[in-house]
Formats: sequence, structure tokens, C-alpha cells
Amino acid sequence: MPALHPPDEPPRAALWFAFSGDRLLVRSSHDQAEVVEYADLAKLDVGFDEGHYLGRLDDVDCYAVELPSAEAPDGAALEGLRALYGRLPDEQYSIAGRAVQILLWDKTHRFCGRCGQPTVNAPGERAKLCPQCGLLSFPRLSPAVIMLIRRGDEEFLLARNRAFAEGFYSVLAGFVEPGESLEEAVAREVREEVNLEIRDIRYFGSQPWPFPHSLMIGFTASYVSGEIRPQADEIVEANWYSRRGELPRLPGKLSIARRLIDSFVGPATGDTE
Ligand SMILES: [Zn+2]
Repeated sequence: MPALHPPDEPPRAALWFAFSGDRLLVRSSHDQAEVVEYADLAKLDVGFDEGHYLGRLDDVDCYAVELPSAEAPDGAALEGLRALYGRLPDEQYSIAGRAVQILLWDKTHRFCGRCGQPTVNAPGERAKLCPQCGLLSFPRLSPAVIMLIRRGDEEFLLARNRAFAEGFYSVLAGFVEPGESLEEAVAREVREEVNLEIRDIRYFGSQPWPFPHSLMIGFTASYVSGEIRPQADEIVEANWYSRRGELPRLPGKLSIARRLIDSFVGPATGDTE
């Protein structure tokens, strides 16, 4: 469904992913939300030509736009993406994640990073072009690996990151460094964060994580050797947990972290965030 060029025919039914910062304009009730149509935006003086064309969902064109103010028109509200998970239809949620990243990229790439000239939209691809020196800048994406480490058939590793809320544990994760394969990043992060050696690093699945521009790539792996020794400035505590025993507070269903844990433990265990 992603596309770059809007249709030539006159405007028709369209969904507008309108953001003020990282909050999306929606019509919402308690348990459901919908992305707005252009009529709602016209009231806010948002020009049709300010939209970034995203592509088509079913037969409906989708646009992203940055709102000029943090005001919502009557009957609509601005809400954070995390709070909209499960309330916005799944397909709209995933487009919203793309939209917010494109808007952020648009805002932060108005000038060439090499020579400082104002950029223009490149023809033919989602990129900013410097007319002066030709530098192309693509939307930023930061790959991060996230991994569930097993020990035997029963145990797996959970850690508490310094940045987590009290009592809250998850699997290990970290950003991929330039020049590194994903598997190398998994092994390095596990070594750095808890001092363990692992093997059988297997791809599990991935998840766009637009907070603000990550792609989470999930793996499972098996423990080989080492005693847990948490990296002092990052990990407060790390332990082996039995998948049949009591578990601490775990990440919410929204996250690939929880899918990794559920794949080993089974669903509906532990508290969510
Ligand atoms: Zn330049």
C-alpha cells in the first residue's frame, strides 16, 4: 500500500493522519477511534496541498499532515499513539506509525546536512534532495534487536532496565551499531548487558516502533555460558525466571517484547504495564 505520488483525479474519500507533535487527531469514544477526514481539517485552515501522500488503504487515499496548532476541532481530539493501540483499527494504526515518522523526518530535514541549503522533495522516492550538492536524505530508521534468552526448556531471562518503571521487567534489547549484522548485535548486547554467551540465534519477527523511529527485530537464543553480571549503568537487575513460576510486571501486548515472552511462556501470564 505505500505510495509516493497522490492520484491525479480530484480529491475524493481520504483519511487524514493529522498530527500535532506525536499526537494524532481522531474522532474517538471510550474504546474506539477513527482517523479524521479532510472536512475536519479544513476547519483548522489546513490546506489540502500540505498533506504528504502516503498511499491507499483499500480504496481510500491516505495523507499525513502536521497541524498548525495543538487545537482539535469540535468532536475530535488529539491522542498519543500508545493510547490509541487497540482502539484505532489495526491497519490505520500501522499507517499512523508510518505517518508520524514521515512528518518528523520532514520537519528535521529541511536543510542539507552537508552544505546547509534548503532541501526539496526528491522526485520518484521518499527523500529530501539538496539542489546545491545533490545529497539525498531518507527517512531515518534505527534498527534495534530484542531477544529472549532461554536456559534449557524451562527458564528464560528477564531484566530490569534503569529506565523502566518500578517492578517492571522485560527481555534484553539494544540498537544495532554500524557495520554489525543483526546476529552480531544480539550476541554483543547480551554480552554487554548481562555478561552471558549465547548460541542458536534465530529470527522471531519484527515490529515498527514509531517512538520515534525504531524498527524492532526480535530473536530467540539459547544460553551457553557465563554468570549474570548486569551492566551497571543500564541494567538494575537480571534473573532467570521459570516459565511455570510467578512472573514480574511485563510489557504490554502492544510490544514485540511481550510476544517473545508469550511465545515461550504462553499467553495471559503476568501483569501488563
Ligand atoms: Zn547540500
